[in-house]
Amino acid sequence: MLTKKLPHFQSFLLLVSRRAHRLTRQQYDVIVVGGGHAGTEAAAAAARMGAETLLVTQKVNTIGALSCNPSLGGVGKGQLVKEVDALDGLCGRAGDWAGIHFSILNRRKGPAVWGPRAQLDRQRYREFIQSELLGTPRLTVLEGSVEELLVTEPNPEEPGHHRVNGIRLGNGGHSISASSVILTTGTFLSGSLFVGQTTVPGGRIGDAPSSAGLSHTLKERLGLRTGRLRTGTPPRIVKDSVDFSLAVLHPPDSHPTPFSFMNKHTRCKPEEQLPCYLTQTTLGVERVVKESLHLNCHIQQDTKGPRYCPSIESRVLRFPGREHQVWLEPEGVTSELVYPQGLSMTMPPDMQLRLIREIPALHRAEIHTPGYGVQYDFVCPTQLSPALQVKSTQGLFLAGQINGTTGYEEAAAQGLWAGVNAARWALSMPPVALSRTESYIGVLIDDLVTRGVTEPYRMFTSRAEFRTSLRPDNADLRLTLKGFEEVGCVSSLRYHEAVRVRDNLQDALTALESIVLSTTNWRKRLPGVLISENKSATLSGMDVLNYNNGSFEMLASVFPELLSPYLEFSQRLKIEAVYRPHCDLQKKEIERIQKEESMSLPEDIDYFSLPVSLSQEVREILDRVRPSTLGAATRLQGITPAAIVHLLNYIRHSG
Ligand code: FAD
Repeated sequence: MLTKKLPHFQSFLLLVSRRAHRLTRQQYDVIVVGGGHAGTEAAAAAARMGAETLLVTQKVNTIGALSCNPSLGGVGKGQLVKEVDALDGLCGRAGDWAGIHFSILNRRKGPAVWGPRAQLDRQRYREFIQSELLGTPRLTVLEGSVEELLVTEPNPEEPGHHRVNGIRLGNGGHSISASSVILTTGTFLSGSLFVGQTTVPGGRIGDAPSSAGLSHTLKERLGLRTGRLRTGTPPRIVKDSVDFSLAVLHPPDSHPTPFSFMNKHTRCKPEEQLPCYLTQTTLGVERVVKESLHLNCHIQQDTKGPRYCPSIESRVLRFPGREHQVWLEPEGVTSELVYPQGLSMTMPPDMQLRLIREIPALHRAEIHTPGYGVQYDFVCPTQLSPALQVKSTQGLFLAGQINGTTGYEEAAAQGLWAGVNAARWALSMPPVALSRTESYIGVLIDDLVTRGVTEPYRMFTSRAEFRTSLRPDNADLRLTLKGFEEVGCVSSLRYHEAVRVRDNLQDALTALESIVLSTTNWRKRLPGVLISENKSATLSGMDVLNYNNGSFEMLASVFPELLSPYLEFSQRLKIEAVYRPHCDLQKKEIERIQKEESMSLPEDIDYFSLPVSLSQEVREILDRVRPSTLGAATRLQGITPAAIVHLLNYIRHSG
């Protein structure tokens, strides 16, 4: 997959614009509005599902653009990339093509919460996404701005339900019909850009905001509740002006780990990877922030920004007197720019230059493009179903930053799932949902549609109650088979590879379980493994793998005939052995809940004083609804499986 040649970038643009001027049809199954991370996954997924799909976006040359940091994955986010890939999405393979510095974050913790991450070459990422879209059957790309949604008034038999019929293009453009429409307008809905005291309409630097007509349709005609959020980006710095000798070098992993299940290697060879550098702010930085506050209108506003990716202004005001980390990251193989992660700022450009020069490694740095902020409307996502369809408007789906999330990975995950469901709607198939127990995508969507957002939402491993089962290493087993057999968004090539892997893993696990030896015998055969004085006199191969220094390779050297056919899966088998006991326990808990569905919940139960680990939010929901059975509680929006387990244990023990 990594050996294919991408079509020349310019010829892609030419081809798309030719196609764009000669739309062969005026009726599509699915129209996707926006070619960002949500839109590209949505369009590709809908087309893979068999729907005739049209992607309309403001500029074809910004399809797949990385608006802010040139990186993909990380803790929690890497899990999303692996799951999008397991469902045959684009971003994992694009990351493997464009990555120039791969590292697994959180390595000191268990593999369930490792965060696969890559620094990307911006240009290569866009080229890959554009080339993939071009090669996707049933997908047409059109350059244009969508001015308005075509909607029918509510059916008297279904009061409150509008139905979307298509879109109307701006600048006097024509209308195009579709059975479903997916909006993925990112930061562009009523977007405004901020630098210093200047505010201009825009969705991103160099790009106009979405038209007012689109906001009008959503708010006035469809009556959707919206809110306002903000984010920002750092200045880009000229690489030659950075004094890297004053920063700490951070090399990549010596063996890059691909995101995609379908790739054995990344395009970038280990030795071709580029380093990142770490440096720190000084008290001088804090001084410049404080001096420029009155000139910085973005920071003075109440609109909520990303808590976990704050601007340098927010960081120094919140934690004065401290040094703050700044990562200096490459923007691409041939790029002359450096991305200073941690220095997102919106003060006037001259103050930005003063600020960065207060950092030792940047003492003579030059700014190529100043940092800026963006504020935009989002649609409160509790108005969506788990299929990401607007509950009150048939055929209308929303995905990405428009739903109040932040980040490429969160956008891509929603885009893929909206694409699947929009296609199913158009093809008269029932919607499909992913649960919190089977995927991070399920956690993300459940959090959005049941809890909503008050600040930009990003994924963390702590949001997933079943994270020991939802590991980056097993995304294929969790999702690829379902994606092919039940959903329809996975190619047969990927499916057959996933089946081969699943069968081999099962055989290898059976083989490991079949080797049962006394502890004394194991100690003789594997002197390198510190097998403790165990009460049980025998251990299986799986038990031995559970020891820190017990590896599959070691076992295979002792039992070559039985185990060497599975050497390619040695890391996966080790991880499986470590987590299996815990995952089995979790599985039993889930089954126990399913069995105990009819268990009555006492009428007079005081949820606020229950001595169990329940969040305030869960207690409030249970108190308000007062479900009569455990089964009824499981179906309440906002009640997590973990909360149900705590409730079940409490009732069992107190009864
Ligand atoms: P986008 O990637 O924004 O794509 C939207 C697409 O819709 C664009 O292609 C646009 O041209 C198109 N479009 C919009 N309106 C129309 C229309 N009417 N008709 C046709 N096409 C339309 N994320 C982080 O995680 N951390 C950060 O620090 C961070 N900082 C950011 C700073 C800035 C300045 C910006 C702009 C974004 C930042 N992001 C950050 C957000 C990140 O870029 C988004 O989360 C991600 O790109 C969202 O993907 P999306 O597909 O929802 O939207």
